[in-house]
Amino acid sequence: MASFPLPPAMFTRVATPFGTAPADPETREALALFATHVADRAVLLTDPDGVILFCNDGTELLFGREPQLLIGCDIAGLMTDDARQARIDRERAIKAATVRFETRCLHIAGGAFDADVTITPIPGADGRLRAFGYSIVDIGDRKAAERRLAESEAHMRSVLATVPDAMVVIDDRGRIRSFSAAAERLFSYREAEVVGSNVDMLMPPDHRARHDAYITRYVRTGEQRIIGAGRIVVARRKDGSEFPVELSVGEANSGNGRIFTGFIRDLSDKQRAERRVRELQDELIHVGRLSAMGTMASTLAHELNQPLTAIAAYLEAARRLTGEAAADRARALEAMDAAGREAVRAGEIVRRLRSFVARGENERRVEPLVPLIEDASRLALTGARESGVRAFHRFDPAADHVFADRVQVQQVLVNLIRNAVEAMGDAEVADLTITTRREGEMIRISVIDTGAGLPSGQIPRLFEAFATTKADGLGLGLSISRTIVEAHGGRIWAEVGAVSGSMFHFTLPAARSDSAS
Ligand code: ADP
Repeated sequence: MASFPLPPAMFTRVATPFGTAPADPETREALALFATHVADRAVLLTDPDGVILFCNDGTELLFGREPQLLIGCDIAGLMTDDARQARIDRERAIKAATVRFETRCLHIAGGAFDADVTITPIPGADGRLRAFGYSIVDIGDRKAAERRLAESEAHMRSVLATVPDAMVVIDDRGRIRSFSAAAERLFSYREAEVVGSNVDMLMPPDHRARHDAYITRYVRTGEQRIIGAGRIVVARRKDGSEFPVELSVGEANSGNGRIFTGFIRDLSDKQRAERRVRELQDELIHVGRLSAMGTMASTLAHELNQPLTAIAAYLEAARRLTGEAAADRARALEAMDAAGREAVRAGEIVRRLRSFVARGENERRVEPLVPLIEDASRLALTGARESGVRAFHRFDPAADHVFADRVQVQQVLVNLIRNAVEAMGDAEVADLTITTRREGEMIRISVIDTGAGLPSGQIPRLFEAFATTKADGLGLGLSISRTIVEAHGGRIWAEVGAVSGSMFHFTLPAARSDSAS
């Protein structure tokens, strides 16, 4: 540091009743010069009654008035306060040796500005009050900044109080700076309990160490893992219980370093609701299956009756034939073989029905389409052939495999086929055609009948639950079918038949047979 050859006297101060002052006259003179020319504040001297005796260059800058014109005026004229208030301020200054306060001062142009005023009483050589020193600083900018800060703080407070998602602001060391009202509700902590603590207190213990490492790495490398994107993580309440949340983090640079704002949305309700919807859907599908089965039960009883009666007849014949001539033995064996085949057939009917009714998990896999359709139509057409329904299949060789849950797709087919059969109850021609067609990535399956057809106005509502025209109909079949098809990523729709009747189509994702498991 440069050293100046200053006389030691310059550093000594003499005691005065109001503190100390430079002892050396030259220093005092230098100080007076400094006070005269200092430009960042108004420096004034008044007599004990507040009449201005002296004002410096800064006074002119601050008030826009020429210093000479101010000499002899009451200093109260520079402020919005009146002469009485100015006197009270001076009396306070005498009592306290100095007084500092904020008030509004008047610029010559008419505008008032915020000012910081210090009044110091100055004693004469006899120790009695000789003058007052005024130091006045324009604090308009500081006040405006304070107001802006207060406003933005109030704004921030109102955001924190009302933002529907929980909001947590942390600094770059992971310490919580603010905690919204929704965050208080979500985590059961009060803001005062968490501000200043590490945000990892809101995480399960096994995430904590990692979180500090995340922030450190991000601040060092800028490598974004979560900033700017939402992700699902586990959070922890005050009572230690854990719950799923969606977290999105934003980043900002504040005057005091980086801050991160986390928006936290509680997913437990959403996940619970989604789970419930899935359960209800499964339930509905199952109910639909049971009701479809209910209507089939009587025809099935009849259908099962046939093989069982045949079995009984074959066995009776075999019993009669046994023990007679060798030729009869061969016929008896034949009858027993036939009885066995019928028993297998009866068992097969029951097996198909069981697998159709069972509440399976949704199991999608690569399924060969032709046997799937043939199985379903055999089940759905049980008893229909006797009532004159002719069934035709037209399968596209390029539509050989679908990626689907076999039982659910069979349920769709059974619904469509049984609806078609019912629609053809009174029809002269009762032809049912099932076709498949490969359409890009999808396969379209159509069930076409020559029945009563669809009342025009009805098509848009067909797939809604409880839309039925049947006396004993539930109106659930098509709505369940739509749920199933859409869950597979497909589409289901109806059309009026080309000549008569109606056409129901649905699509399923095609699968390559070589990817079959
Ligand atoms: P449900 O069969 O219990 O009435 P669905 O949802 O399966 O319930 O069918 C709803 C309605 O759609 C039926 O009541 C019927 O009016 C109409 N519908 C369905 N399929 C056909 C069809 N192939 N031909 C004419 N109308 C049909």
